[in-house]
Amino acid sequence: MKKKLKLVLCLLLFVLFVFLLWNSSKIKFKKELELSLNRESYQKDIVSKVLNGKHLTENERIDTSSLGEKEVIVSFKTFYGLTKKYKVKVNVVDKESPTIKYQNTITTTKGKEIDLTKGVEVHDNSNEEISVAVEGEYDINKVGEYTLYYIAKDSSGNSTKEEFTLKVLSSSSSNETYFTTSKGFQGVVKDGATYIDGTLIVNKSYGLPSTFGSGLTNETTTAFKKLQSAALLDGLNIYIASGWRSYQKQVTLYNNYVARDGKEAADTYSARPGYSEHQSGFTFDVNEVSDKFIGTPEANWLSDNCYKYGFILRYPNGKQDITGFKYESWHFRYVGEELATKLYNNGDWLTLEEYFGIDSVYKD
Ligand SMILES: [Zn+2]
Repeated sequence: MKKKLKLVLCLLLFVLFVFLLWNSSKIKFKKELELSLNRESYQKDIVSKVLNGKHLTENERIDTSSLGEKEVIVSFKTFYGLTKKYKVKVNVVDKESPTIKYQNTITTTKGKEIDLTKGVEVHDNSNEEISVAVEGEYDINKVGEYTLYYIAKDSSGNSTKEEFTLKVLSSSSSNETYFTTSKGFQGVVKDGATYIDGTLIVNKSYGLPSTFGSGLTNETTTAFKKLQSAALLDGLNIYIASGWRSYQKQVTLYNNYVARDGKEAADTYSARPGYSEHQSGFTFDVNEVSDKFIGTPEANWLSDNCYKYGFILRYPNGKQDITGFKYESWHFRYVGEELATKLYNNGDWLTLEEYFGIDSVYKD
């Protein structure tokens, strides 16, 4: 009798154990099942706990491309290998505010009408077109500094407000004229030279006065020496073959090319006087100034590393319609490390023209 009781007790315990295990196989879902519109979301994002089992569809994408309630089918394999299916309701909502890309300061001269939203970009997780409005008061006919705001709102009511400063300068106080590029950067023409966001620009649209420049700038030379030493450590000899060129020198060069190849051809590889970047003091050609340089270890090294020292490959391959010049694997321009890194663009070189939103075309 005692033996029997023991057996029954054991059996009961076993059944209880199996039952507990059975019940312990669980998948739990989060309490707040809200997902953000157009954000990449997976089933695992809505699960809070998996116990003694496997969430089979954890890497299945949940469609968040439209607002409202969605039904998600979740497959769960229990401890005993059974597959259970759950229907889970999730809500796709838009709680994210738009982001505004803008310039902190815009400068203009008194009396000159200005489009403050030009080049300002708004991004949002909803795919709707969102416009930006300007809030605050200013008087374009009155010299001063005005604090204004950009405001962007999406259709779900999320809004973003960003402060910026509008400076209205007296037109007689300087010989500077201001403009805004198509990408929203501030440009200034100062004593005949054009600077965009602080960077001197020389191309077919933006020339230099004939008196501009006197040699490579100190920062260019210093940065080049660093680049040169780094290349040397990699066993490569990089040297400047042609650095600063005066306006007069460019007159001679350009006229010779025109005499040899004609104006149209000369314009694709040689700049007109006043439009050569070599006059800027930030530019030089290295080693072999010809297409023979393409693909050499030195050219490859420069293309991959020059940005670390603040230089850019000024006329990349396939960008002739943008820069106005054919591919020049030997021509480099100093712009500083920050901008150079942006233009390097992980190896897919961007041009100054693309980045700032400007063209490079002779006016005549
Ligand atoms: Zn050059």
